[in-house]
Amino acid sequence: MLKKSSQVSPKPETTLLSLMNSYCTGTFLKPTVSSTNLKRLCWCLTLGPRITIQIVERLREDILAGKLKSGSEIKDALKKSVLDLLEKKGNKTELQLGFRKPAVIMIVGVNGGGKTTSLGKLAYRLKNEGAKILMAAGDTFRAAASDQLEIWAERTGCEIVVADKEKAKASLVISQAVKKGKEQEFDVVLCDTSGRLHTNYSLMEELIACKKAVGKIVRGAPNEILLVLDGTTGLNMLPQAREFNEVVGITGFILTKLDGSARGGCVVSVVDELGIPVKFVGVGEGVEDLQPFDAEAFVNAIFS
Ligand code: GDP
Repeated sequence: MLKKSSQVSPKPETTLLSLMNSYCTGTFLKPTVSSTNLKRLCWCLTLGPRITIQIVERLREDILAGKLKSGSEIKDALKKSVLDLLEKKGNKTELQLGFRKPAVIMIVGVNGGGKTTSLGKLAYRLKNEGAKILMAAGDTFRAAASDQLEIWAERTGCEIVVADKEKAKASLVISQAVKKGKEQEFDVVLCDTSGRLHTNYSLMEELIACKKAVGKIVRGAPNEILLVLDGTTGLNMLPQAREFNEVVGITGFILTKLDGSARGGCVVSVVDELGIPVKFVGVGEGVEDLQPFDAEAFVNAIFS
């Protein structure tokens, strides 16, 4: 994400007004990524250059026609544009768990993004809604991952299936869990997976194997494959989301770490390009710190 610079006004209205004015009167530098003004505008909007240009272009006529004059009018129009985009391209924010038991949710993403933590928080949320939850410690790559998930299982009072030997195949552990989930009538099996670089092909293949294994046990499963995106990573989200989606087909995003200074605005570019909704946001490390995605609250936070 573009860093806040000392010359940039912390007040979005003021910065937006002057940037939009110079943009519309032609004194704005050519809108390329290298343009300083565009960088400032993007920082101001925290959305990334492509979406910024797209939205700003859309408002250009209204500004030139004098329909949008003040900074706050421009800000409101920009907010509406972003909200419209999120509602049009990413509106299926509810989990789609189908009618077959158990529903299976795979949590995927790069290392350190918050997969295991989000899985724990999601387990807590679903359990509170009355679901019987089983966890699958499918991150067999990182040594401490199973231990970490076991702590979450204890914390949330959920059962867990872990590998019975070191370096077991992730697809094996996940299959065992889904079979158990089916036999013992669990409502949802939440599967952790190894953190990986999205460019590591063999690990990506392992994800495909997990997906196939699950589908053989419960028809139509996995019901959800949620990609965890770290809200602090800015535009790096986009190549990650593309790659994971291409390989396993992502059904939704969990945007984490929005409790810090990150606003996660770049996810708007991801939703726009892939048409996949954000389903949850992570706002801390505690059990209750996972919230359903609320587009309006999110947009308000971006422009606050
Ligand atoms: P994984 O490698 O993807 O499984 O990531 P982890 O679940 O181990 O999380 C990595 C770090 O990020 C841990 O220290 C978590 O406590 C932290 N974390 C995860 N989600 C959030 C969040 O929403 N907010 C904050 N502040 N920290 C988070």
